[in-house]
Amino acid sequence: MNKLLNSLSNLIFPNLCVCCDAYLTFQEEAICDLCYHRLPRFENYSNPSNSVAKKFWGRLKLEYASSYLEFSSNSDVRKILHEIKYKGNLNLGIEMGKALGRVMKKIPELTNADVIIPIPLHPQREIERGFNQSNLIAHGMSELMGQKVYVDAVIRKKYNSTQTNKRRYERFINSNEIFKVVKPTLLENKHILLIDDVITTGATLEACGNALLEVEGLRLSVISLAASI
Ligand SMILES: [Zn+2]
Repeated sequence: MNKLLNSLSNLIFPNLCVCCDAYLTFQEEAICDLCYHRLPRFENYSNPSNSVAKKFWGRLKLEYASSYLEFSSNSDVRKILHEIKYKGNLNLGIEMGKALGRVMKKIPELTNADVIIPIPLHPQREIERGFNQSNLIAHGMSELMGQKVYVDAVIRKKYNSTQTNKRRYERFINSNEIFKVVKPTLLENKHILLIDDVITTGATLEACGNALLEVEGLRLSVISLAASI
């Protein structure tokens, strides 16, 4: 019956590919097969000195760092990130997390990873948005990789309301006052996969990562859905 209702609703409100607006078949989730295969993948996953890892050299002590897709200002990747974050396409967030998990499952440096932690939003921001986009990606990854997702071990203390305050925000990040580990004993001696939707400067991951690295014996890897290279 559900299938029949879905079929009917798809006839009346057809699902369109978020990248090219083509009609989707019943097997396709949010992105058509053609666009999915054309996505600009970051192919350097297995090299520990890849360009995402290099962004953090001298800033954050990491076991491994990488990204699934290459982010550029005018690409389907931008549309996907926008669709997840601002249009609330929760299903797309989880599906992209699964695609990311499928790749990261094969990385030797991550076979001993214990826990997945999505970069937290400030609680007020999460209420406004209704979800945390990194949390969706983390749960998709978890389905494929098997590690549990911890959403309340780290909190975000500072609320940056607009992009116009970015310079002030960066100062906060530098002073390392944004994130606080509230359940450190839960994370002791664990290898944490810290997840963000997109890495540009890496400042947010650096701030959260440095807070996490204060926990006894903690090892850290950072992974994003997309990164500017
Ligand atoms: Zn398409």
